[in-house]
Amino acid sequence: MKKYLLAIVACLMSTTLLAADPPAPTFRAGAATSNLTPALGSAIIGGFLPFPATNVHDELHARCLVLDDGKTKLALVVVDLLGFHYIVSHEARKFIEQETGIPPTNVLISAVHTHSAASALGEKHFEFPQKADEYQADKYQTFVARRIADGVKCAANRLRPAQLGFTTAEAPEHVFNRRWFLKPGAIPPGPFGTIDQVKMNPAAGSPDLVKPAGPTDPLVSILAVRELDGRPIAVYSCYSLHYVGGATWMRCSAGIS
Ligand SMILES: [Zn+2]
Repeated sequence: MKKYLLAIVACLMSTTLLAADPPAPTFRAGAATSNLTPALGSAIIGGFLPFPATNVHDELHARCLVLDDGKTKLALVVVDLLGFHYIVSHEARKFIEQETGIPPTNVLISAVHTHSAASALGEKHFEFPQKADEYQADKYQTFVARRIADGVKCAANRLRPAQLGFTTAEAPEHVFNRRWFLKPGAIPPGPFGTIDQVKMNPAAGSPDLVKPAGPTDPLVSILAVRELDGRPIAVYSCYSLHYVGGATWMRCSAGIS
């Protein structure tokens, strides 16, 4: 009898402990890529004039990372494009919400600014309609939005217990300010006939150089995500460096090669 009582007491105690101390939610992460490479013949932008792609140096991707702390899900996406029109982000986030439940406010999409990609800017680069639904996305913009959502969906499918680490480092040797103050009279008139205070990309070593127009940002910030046994899932990083490319002319490339 005493044995049964002890068992009942032990059982009640463990129930009380469970009720008072629920298990901590597990942090999870998942990552995936999806291919954004345009058809050959598509216009490659980033130079002074667009030119048709004749080859692929390396495929273009949407690189997608989903983080979940048990309460909130976030999606971080980096695309191998020069940039993109707002409609691409709008459409992609619409698909993502419909298919994964991650709300648009929890999705961050950025571009690496490669100069060797097709344009997702559309013909009206700088026009923002009052309502996004009034804007007609073109064929490649629609494709990119769909592929971003596919990547996020695959990343969400791969959520598993994970650890997250963050650090920063400084790498000042690769960054410089492209805008310079020049000596009086050295800045030519702009297309509207006015004289800017600073000039972008002045000739290197020019005797007219006075000083850069501002500081540089040498910080490299790194968010690293791995499985509990140490296997890497993703690295999400930021460095204020303009385009660096190794692709020869007329080839698609993500630009960091
Ligand atoms: Zn550029």
